[in-house]
Amino acid sequence: MSEPGGSAPPISLDEFVSECRAFLDGSYEPKVDTGLRWGEGSDRVGVFEEPDPEEEQRRMRAVREWRRRLFDAGLGWITGPIRYGGRDLPLSYQRAFDRLARGYDVPGNGPVTITLGMVAPTILAHGTEAARNRYLAALHRGDLVACQLFSEPGAGSDLASVSTTATRDGDGWRISGQKVWTSGAQHADIGEVLCRTGEAPRHRNLTAFVIDMGAPGVEVRPLRQMTGGAAFNEVFLDSVWVPDEDRLGDIGAGWQVALTTLRNERSSIGSESFGGAGLLDLERFKAMVHHCGRRDDPLIRQHLARLYCGIRAAKYMRQRAEAARRRGLAAGPEGPLGKLALARNMAEITAFVSALLGPSLVADSGRWGTYAWANFVLGAPGYRLGGGTDEVIKNIIAERALGLPREPAAPMAGPGRP
Ligand SMILES: Cc1cc2nc3c(=O)[nH]c(=O)nc-3n(C[C@H](O)[C@H](O)[C@H](O)COP(=O)(O)OP(=O)(O)OC[C@H]3O[C@@H](n4cnc5c(N)ncnc54)[C@H](O)[C@@H]3O)c2cc1C
Repeated sequence: MSEPGGSAPPISLDEFVSECRAFLDGSYEPKVDTGLRWGEGSDRVGVFEEPDPEEEQRRMRAVREWRRRLFDAGLGWITGPIRYGGRDLPLSYQRAFDRLARGYDVPGNGPVTITLGMVAPTILAHGTEAARNRYLAALHRGDLVACQLFSEPGAGSDLASVSTTATRDGDGWRISGQKVWTSGAQHADIGEVLCRTGEAPRHRNLTAFVIDMGAPGVEVRPLRQMTGGAAFNEVFLDSVWVPDEDRLGDIGAGWQVALTTLRNERSSIGSESFGGAGLLDLERFKAMVHHCGRRDDPLIRQHLARLYCGIRAAKYMRQRAEAARRRGLAAGPEGPLGKLALARNMAEITAFVSALLGPSLVADSGRWGTYAWANFVLGAPGYRLGGGTDEVIKNIIAERALGLPREPAAPMAGPGRP
């Protein structure tokens, strides 16, 4: 990817935008915004994608097809190195495309966030040449979908205590253990797995691999969460063979590989959501207040104002970070701050709709736009955990952004997911 101050891109931004517009016009319909009409259309406001299995398959097919068309049109990896299938254009070009695409009825990248935002960048940074050639274009083209196999029943925040093992077997490795919370493993073709490979101190005995999710010995079992959906899984690995060329980084250097993935995880969760800016459907919130007959309730009005301010503040912080990046300045703590803001803003929305809707959140009265919020309320707490819990993110901000001393480790506890 070209950095600020690097050589001029081979195509101007205006020409590039015209190219993108031609692609989108030729393949997708412009979005028609009919505005919110209370009682009309879907009132779904869930936070996880939890369609029934048939709908889920249909959606995945549409996303893979979207990725294929994008990639074949030269727009599937705008910032990526040309030798692996990218265009080697600056990030501003990717953002210009994203802005334009929001105006069209496209399937979007929701189900491939982990693939594109976390696993592909890690393979690019740490993969062997063979792994980069095998996976990078295929991941960006939607031919392969990836999942992140880090967390275990005994290793979440304290990720360095993973107990899944990888042992040498000829020119490859045998991997055995259990992973948990694996988002999207049910349709993943490959996974990035963190394993123990030695007896050295915890952070120096880990190694990361790319694993074939269809290989013998891989078993994926869905986990049903309290929303009723099953977006996560347990993954059991029983002597799964992985060639050595699918090792990411050096033997024993898996911690550095994991850090790359986690940094990308936090900034993709925090930045794509703009700290929850996409959740700010002010018209919907105002219509709810109106339809619940609470327009003049000072507490509800105060609550709505607080919600609005929290989400706008997160959005402005993100925009400031983007402006700094455009000027070539180093990244600040906006990634972890954005992640924290997202979890907080979701909790604020939960408190607001709970105060407003009361019992209609727990009993389906059939009234449009009321009980539907139960799915959001039950799913939102997950965002306090995924990508690092609030407490662990606060530790990161305290130690790395504010320069406060490290928190003393409690006896028997680890230092916390980095
Ligand atoms: C929506 C969602 C999606 C996820 N997707 C994936 C995925 O695809 N792949 C994957 O590998 N994992 C995934 N996870 C797992 C996620 O990474 C873990 O839930 C997270 O790291 C926390 O680990 P834990 O659940 O084991 O909680 P624990 O680590 O057991 O934490 C329990 C409590 O202790 C607190 N705590 C722990 N350590 C400290 C400390 N040092 N200081 C202060 N407080 C601390 C935590 O904040 C928390 O409140 C997902 C989780 C969610 C909710």
